[in-house]
Amino acid sequence: HADIAMYRAKKLGRDNFQFYTPAMNEEAMERVRIESALRCALERDEFVLHYQPQVDLASGEIVGMEALIRWQHPEMGMVAPDRFIGVAEETGLIVQIGAWVMREACRQNRAWHDAGLARLRVAVNLSARQFGATNLVADIRAVLAETGLAPGCLEIELTESLFMSDVSLAVELLHAMKALGVKLSIDDFGTGYSSLSYLSRFPIDVLKIDRSFVAAIARDSNDAAIVASIIALAHNLKLSVIAEGVETAEQLDYLRRRGCDQMQGYFFSRPLPAAEFEQLLRKQCRLPLLATLDEGALA
Ligand code: C2E
Ligand code: MG
Ligand code: MG
Ligand code: MG
Repeated sequence: HADIAMYRAKKLGRDNFQFYTPAMNEEAMERVRIESALRCALERDEFVLHYQPQVDLASGEIVGMEALIRWQHPEMGMVAPDRFIGVAEETGLIVQIGAWVMREACRQNRAWHDAGLARLRVAVNLSARQFGATNLVADIRAVLAETGLAPGCLEIELTESLFMSDVSLAVELLHAMKALGVKLSIDDFGTGYSSLSYLSRFPIDVLKIDRSFVAAIARDSNDAAIVASIIALAHNLKLSVIAEGVETAEQLDYLRRRGCDQMQGYFFSRPLPAAEFEQLLRKQCRLPLLATLDEGALA
């Protein structure tokens, strides 16, 4: 592995060689390890999707879920997305991995519909590299046709960074995706280089409040004010709004009083393997939320 790392360093240019410190070496080694393992991960079937419920704050019902990728490597164990999505983006592998995620999420959701479970919407994260890929819209259309999932039951999560490099291309792509009938949401809203002007130009359906704001609701009045403002902004624009990373009853209570539509977070459930998520759906389990709702609200 050391020689691969050296080779990579040399490839960067001989002049860079002198800046190559031991710490960088370790980082580069980890990267090389992840990168080479990532190349085989798809064919070895090492990825799985976990699903995290999205809960309606008025009814307490599960109304959707976010598909989150997990990588089970035989030696490295469960590798969190934060450790490999970046590498997958840099190498371009994200395009194939993302295509797998899209297909698997749609297939699974359609299977749940066929099994007679509630017809929920599944949200899938899209990376910048996928957004730039030429056949994105055709690929999504093909996956919908192939899996037979109703387009309205697929939501695509985009981050603000995707729009910045070429706004007119972004407008075009979003309208093309929208024309397929899928829903579009903005993930981690408020953390990117937000420009409010795009909100009126882009055919967005949902804002997802970043969990850093949600986490600070109880201890930082500025963050609480930002959360309230995002909810009001969304509603004024006729968008729906979901808070991510809800962990406490206090946060939930604040969000509900401010009229937030949905929430997602450990307070209700961690992301679950498909079989466990299915059990949750079958039980229509809403006990954690019930405890904090007014008596009789769900009766
Ligand atoms: P994200 O899209 O913002 O997803 C939400 C992340 O917050 C998930 O982390 C989820 O497990 C975590 N989370 C949910 N509720 C809570 C909570 O109450 N508290 C805390 N502390 N965390 C919570 P995860 O699964 O590790 O994913 C991290 C990021 O990796 C995602 O952030 C997303 O940007 C990326 N990612 C995950 N799956 C995919 C994928 O299939 N494709 C792409 N392109 N990116 C993905
Ligand atoms: Mg997301
Ligand atoms: Mg998010
Ligand atoms: Mg986030």
